Amino acid sequence: MHKLNRKRIFWGSLLLTALVAVLILRLAWVQLLLKDRKVAGTEYPLSKMAEIQRERETVLDSGRGRLYDRNGLPLAGETVWTAAFFPQEEAAAEAAVSAADKEKLQRLATVLDVTYEQLQARRSGLKQPLLWPSGRGKNPQELTPAEADEVERLGIDGVRVLPFARRYGGEATGRQWLGYLSEASAGEIKESPTGLRVPLTGTDGLEKTLEPLLQGVGHTEAYAQVDARGNRLSGSPIRVRAPGNPYYPLSLYTTIDKSLQEGIEKLAAKAGVKEGAVVVLDAANGDIEAMVSLPFYDPGHISPKGGEWNNRALQAAVPGSIFKLVTAAAALEAGITSPEEKFYCSGHYGKYGLSCPAGKAHGSLTMAEGFAVSCNTVFASLAERLSGAQLQSAALALGLGRDISWQAENTLGLPLLRPLAGEQPGTIFTTLLPDDGGARVQTAIGQRDVRITPLQAANLLVTLLHGGEVRAPRILQRVAFANGQTLQDLPGHLAPASQGRISPATARTLLSLMRKVVTEGTGKSLLGTKWPLAGKSGTAQTLVKGVPRNNQWFIGYGPVDHPKYAVSALVENVAPGSPHAAVKLFGQVFELLSESSGA
Ligand SMILES: [Zn+2]
Repeated sequence: MHKLNRKRIFWGSLLLTALVAVLILRLAWVQLLLKDRKVAGTEYPLSKMAEIQRERETVLDSGRGRLYDRNGLPLAGETVWTAAFFPQEEAAAEAAVSAADKEKLQRLATVLDVTYEQLQARRSGLKQPLLWPSGRGKNPQELTPAEADEVERLGIDGVRVLPFARRYGGEATGRQWLGYLSEASAGEIKESPTGLRVPLTGTDGLEKTLEPLLQGVGHTEAYAQVDARGNRLSGSPIRVRAPGNPYYPLSLYTTIDKSLQEGIEKLAAKAGVKEGAVVVLDAANGDIEAMVSLPFYDPGHISPKGGEWNNRALQAAVPGSIFKLVTAAAALEAGITSPEEKFYCSGHYGKYGLSCPAGKAHGSLTMAEGFAVSCNTVFASLAERLSGAQLQSAALALGLGRDISWQAENTLGLPLLRPLAGEQPGTIFTTLLPDDGGARVQTAIGQRDVRITPLQAANLLVTLLHGGEVRAPRILQRVAFANGQTLQDLPGHLAPASQGRISPATARTLLSLMRKVVTEGTGKSLLGTKWPLAGKSGTAQTLVKGVPRNNQWFIGYGPVDHPKYAVSALVENVAPGSPHAAVKLFGQVFELLSESSGA
């Protein structure tokens, strides 16, 4: 038994010694060979890898939430294909470029719309990774899917096709409601609700009001390993690193129809409108389908002094005769007139220096006819029978002189969600309900202190189409996680009704009066359009830097029998006596709407 144990120990020790010897030999072999062995995934031995200082990266997506239109088309944060270049030592040495590589690079230059020499000059001077820039704006050049395929197939070392999330399209548009981004201040970074890095922060429009929802959870970047001089190690892969959170960034779906918005922007630009706004609301619910402001702005190039970032659709302007809708509503509600009541216009009212445009005598006419031809005499007479309080309450009941846009409390973790927080409430009287006739008469024709926004003007029509019920125009309808799952639907709602409402009968009368404007009044140029339309014109007197100027308005709805849209068109700061550009633009907008509806 002892003998047997000793034998076992002997053989066991021998085996162990042999194993240790093998291990020692193996270790020596590894140490001998290791310095020349290539590291997995690279062309470089470990000795060279020791020289690698760090990685070089380029941001492909800031991780900020994205905004979409009602059909899911991107409005801010569109992903496009771009060509990414990483610095390479070899790129500098022209002699090192083989004939085969040169052919590939020439092809790449063609795709990027530059010469081979320009391409090589740019590549050799690289110190940082580069997303090939486009000719205009800050955005990288967008590649079509076919171009992206081709560049990727070329397989040029150090060049890859990567997806890039560009915030804006790089051009000036009338989408001031989007706002823009600025560098975040230290305070903003500190106060970030998510506590995450916020390099850029929304400074106006939806970028600002929806900031807490738009903040992401980190950026996506492309990176490669570089040597001490910042050059990418030849053959080392260009990889993409993303936060990998399936829920963020959030997708915010607006009520905007992108193609309609673009179409109206083109119309307004073609019409030569310099200042003004167009608002298109869905007649069924008051949703904002298009909101165009002029002059256009480029969110990538905000000039502090320019002011073109102001959204004129949300800024209160002198309304002129479109305000006669309010005066007519007040008079009808008070029961002091009817559409058939007879008046006489000599062209001059005889008081307060008031006259009809160019002193035109309208002669004998009814209140309905006075509305159609926008006779100041008729409306001055009505105003003198009304009190300031009656005019004011009719305006408030129609959603003027107060904030009306959609809002929600305690939603999505926010105490107050108000996407169009920048809207101006406008005014009816700035001094409280004056009793003097002159003030009432001037107010009744939309002059003096009266200011309304193009959004309010369009919404007023939706109110009439809903029998006097004021809806709150909505621009944001749904918030979804990055994986498409809905986080929250944001249904439309009515504006607060505490200001009262006009009767359905008065609303009906006003709608029919507006039809008369088109059939026999100031909107006659709109007869013969594909859809029958109804509306009201306005030419307001303003002062710009002390010089008399006009605001031209036309607001209306259509088609008359089954209204689909309510539209306001405002052309600001035009010389008195100019042709009415607003009625023309209004007609063109409805032409576009009827074509795109296919009805
Ligand atoms: Zn008149």
